[in-house]
Amino acid sequence: MSELIDKLVCENLKGLTPYESARRLFSVGDGGQQQIWLNANESPFANEYDLDDARLNRYPDCQPQGVLRKYAGYASVLPEQTLVTRGADEGIELLIRSFCTPGKDKILICPPTYGMYAISAETCNVGIVKAPLKQDFSLDVEAICASKDEVNLVFICSPNNPTGTTVDTKQLRAVLEHFADSALVVVDEAYIEFDWQHNWASELKNYPNLVILRTLSKAFALAGLRCGFTLASPDIIQTMLKVIAPYPIPDPCAQIAQQALTEKGLDRLETQIQFIAQQRSNVKKALSQFQQIELIGDDKANFILFRTPSKNQLMKFLVEHGMLIRDQSKQLNLDNCLRVTVGNEQQNQRLISLITTFFELQEATQ
Ligand SMILES: *Cc1c(COP(=O)(O)O)cnc(C)c1O
Repeated sequence: MSELIDKLVCENLKGLTPYESARRLFSVGDGGQQQIWLNANESPFANEYDLDDARLNRYPDCQPQGVLRKYAGYASVLPEQTLVTRGADEGIELLIRSFCTPGKDKILICPPTYGMYAISAETCNVGIVKAPLKQDFSLDVEAICASKDEVNLVFICSPNNPTGTTVDTKQLRAVLEHFADSALVVVDEAYIEFDWQHNWASELKNYPNLVILRTLSKAFALAGLRCGFTLASPDIIQTMLKVIAPYPIPDPCAQIAQQALTEKGLDRLETQIQFIAQQRSNVKKALSQFQQIELIGDDKANFILFRTPSKNQLMKFLVEHGMLIRDQSKQLNLDNCLRVTVGNEQQNQRLISLITTFFELQEATQ
C-alpha cells in the first residue's frame, strides 16, 4: 500500500480483510465452465425472464412499487413494512448504519453464523458482542440476554448458515421480549423458503422490535440479481430509507424480481424447493454412508454441513477435480467442517462419486 493510502485509510479498516466470498476464493475466469459450484448456497436452476428496455434512460424508483407490493403480498405483510434492498446484505448494512452510532454502539451475533454481520459492523466501526450458539446450535438465551443495554441490534439467523438449524420459537420469543425496550432483533430468513412454516413475518404485529431479512438469492435462484428485502415496522423502514442510496434497485432487476413474484414464478419456486429437498435427502443419505463423515447440524436449508478428519485433503482433492464446496472449519466449534450446497442431480452425483473415490484412494494408501 502506498504511503498516502496508508495514511488516509480509515482507522477501523486497517486490520480488516474483505469477506471471503465463494467467488473471491475461487476467482476462476474461463476455467469456471467445467467447474461445479456447490460453495455459495446458490440454486442450481437458472430461470428465464423477459426484459423491457423502454425505461433504461430513466432513473428507477428508489423503491419499485410493483416489486414492493408483490413481495409484501408474498410475505403477508403491508408494503409499508417492506423495504427492497440490494440483496439482504444491504439490509444488514443499512440496519447497522441506521441504528448503531460508529465508535459507540454494538451489535450481537451468535456464531457460528453468517459472516456479513460482523464484517458490516467492522467496516462501520461498530462493536461486536458474541453469544455463541450452544453445542446443539440452539441459542444461548442467557448469554444473549446478558447483553441488554450493551447492544442495539441482535442478529439471529434462522435457518442458520452454516448449521442449517432453525431457531426455537420459545427462545426467540424470550429474546424479543427481553430486548423489547432496548434493541432490535434481526431474524435473517435468507433460507426461510426451505422451512416456511417457521417464518416470523406474522409476528411483526406482536413485536415492534422484530426485523426480518429476506432475499431472492437462494430459493428464488436469483443470486445474480442482488435483490433482498427487510420486513419491519413502518418506523424502522422509514429510518432505513434515510440512509439507503437514491436508486438502489436497477430497473432490469426490478422487472425480473416482479416476474419472480408472479403466480407463475411462485409455482416454479415451489417446484424447485421440492426438488432441492428431495436431492438434499439423497445427498445426506449418501454422505452418511461414509465412515469418515459425520453430518453436523440440521437440514432446514439448501446445504449440508459435515465433519471429516480429512477435511484439508478432501477439499484439495475436490478442487483439483473442479468441485468447489465451502470450508467452514474456521468458524467457532466447526473444526474440520465443510459445507456443501445441494445442486442438481448430476452435480450431486458427481460430488458423491468424487468423495467415494477420495476415501477409496485414502484407504488404498494407508
Ligand atoms: C446468502 C445469505 C445472505 C445474503 O443474501 P443476498 O441477498 O445475496 O445479499 C444473507 N444472509 C444469509 C444467512 C445468507 O446465507
